[in-house]
Amino acid sequence: MIHELSELGKTLRRQKSNNEWIHDALKSEPISIELVITEDGVFQRFELIEKKLTIAEAITAKKGKARLLLDKAEEVLCYGGEASKTKHELFLQKLDEYNNLRELAPVIAFYKNNKANGIEKALKEFEISISDEKNRKGNIGFRIQTDGYRIHEKPGVLKEVITKYEALQEKLLASKKRKCSLCGQSKYPVEDIPHGMIKKVPNGQSSGCALVSYNENAFESYSLKGNDNSSICTNCAKTYVEGLNWLLSIGNEIIIKNSKGKEKSAFRYTNRKNFGSDTAMVFWTRGNKELPEIDYLEAPNPEDVARLIESVTSGTEKDSRYLEPEQFYSFTLSGSAARIAIRDWIATSLYDFRKSIVQWFKDIAIKEYDGDLKNLRTHYAHLYDLARSCQRKNSDGSYDKDDVSLSRVAGYLWNAALKNTTLPLWLLTKVLQRARLDKYGVTADRAALIKIILNRHNKGGGFVITEKLEEGRKPVAYVCGQIFAKLESVQYAALGDLNAGIRERYFTYAMTLPSAALGRLFDLHSKHYTKLKNEKPGLAITLDKELQELCKDVGINNLPPTFTLEEKGQFAIGYYHQKQAQFKGAKSKENKEEA
Ligand SMILES: [Zn+2]
Repeated sequence: MIHELSELGKTLRRQKSNNEWIHDALKSEPISIELVITEDGVFQRFELIEKKLTIAEAITAKKGKARLLLDKAEEVLCYGGEASKTKHELFLQKLDEYNNLRELAPVIAFYKNNKANGIEKALKEFEISISDEKNRKGNIGFRIQTDGYRIHEKPGVLKEVITKYEALQEKLLASKKRKCSLCGQSKYPVEDIPHGMIKKVPNGQSSGCALVSYNENAFESYSLKGNDNSSICTNCAKTYVEGLNWLLSIGNEIIIKNSKGKEKSAFRYTNRKNFGSDTAMVFWTRGNKELPEIDYLEAPNPEDVARLIESVTSGTEKDSRYLEPEQFYSFTLSGSAARIAIRDWIATSLYDFRKSIVQWFKDIAIKEYDGDLKNLRTHYAHLYDLARSCQRKNSDGSYDKDDVSLSRVAGYLWNAALKNTTLPLWLLTKVLQRARLDKYGVTADRAALIKIILNRHNKGGGFVITEKLEEGRKPVAYVCGQIFAKLESVQYAALGDLNAGIRERYFTYAMTLPSAALGRLFDLHSKHYTKLKNEKPGLAITLDKELQELCKDVGINNLPPTFTLEEKGQFAIGYYHQKQAQFKGAKSKENKEEA
């Protein structure tokens, strides 16, 4: 995984190098204050600048280090008194290392010969003229009054930074000669230095988290110290950090409409999906290609899905890019204090990735009655809606934010979509529970989730659930679900919309103890039936005939006392399929009755 992240970092560097190339020794850093001095080191003024980026010395970790000529007020001015003394000392030491450069002469005078009119005056002025504490936090860089360049940006200074960096690398290499476990080369040294911080990790600290770190002796071996144990060279460390930071942050502004139709801009990650607030998934391909299929999972459009299924199943891959040996990668991560926890790792060919997504859509496809079309149409659930359909709700109908399982469920679903894996059965328990407690019952999303869970668990040629009402041989539990839907519609036809109809009161009972529950329900049914027969005799007879057919199929007097978890799922699907079919048939029956 780290190897592939490093490869991604290298690809990004190559792609970027068309317009700019930054040496490993240098890095782009923000600057917010210019400290203007004269040629002989006399302080002139501070100039606040809108946060801009500048090229400066690259340092891997801030702690115990100061950057050449560009740093915070603590380092540059010893702002903060005694507490900043060590930081300021480090800054001066760094200057000392470069004291042979003539570009630095004014700065050295500022700190030494012209101290009173230099650093001392500057510190006083800093506290007076920059009154806002917030403005005192940024990086400070030196500039000579008559000069356009900031001193740390002068070509001679940057060149010296590179020379020193390369000399150090060479020295380290000569002393160790260890092969990097990622690139297999000994071109760059393996060092016990932090690899760089990963930013924007969910639940991670804002200053960043480390992917590789050894903070206890217990994790070290072969008398190696700290990150020496990882055997990752400085170049691979840099590139994997860049790769992961890019994956976690890359995206673009998009315009979205809120529920009131008002437009506003929002940030959309292109290579990252958030699962709740504590987990995120990142994904990419070796060649850093776009992956529209991932967007389909989140917002499936039936035409796109149909085209995808067609191209993969017919084997006529017109789009040649999928025949290339391109690899797809993905993993889920969360922050825990200063570290990163990796939850899983997917590495697969782009072709298999596409095949998995096609299988996903086939498995979640389910027919739903469309009131506008007055017909059934295929419903492809949004992946996140499937996760949502298992989430607990508050009494006012809003989602319960304390139900932390959402991110876990979403994680399982992403894995199932990308790797074509089975889903855990506890998810079935959860979705059935929601179907029972939620006022919308077995929604299309819930039915889709039950369908994919059951079908992917069904390895031994058992009952395969399709998109719509089954014909032919069906399991008892499935037919019981149909009977339940039928009884519900007789009740509805007789009594109209009730506050708590039979689904609210008997769904779990019938799903758990079918024999006892259906006996009780048929007692109730005879009352509803008598009422309906007096009011709408035609409808009553049709419904009863259909009900009798189903009862015959299942041997109503020999129902099992209980259903297994899988059978409960079949019951819910039978109920759902029957209801969708009834919606479609309902109109014509009503019309007949009125005629
Ligand atoms: Zn390496």
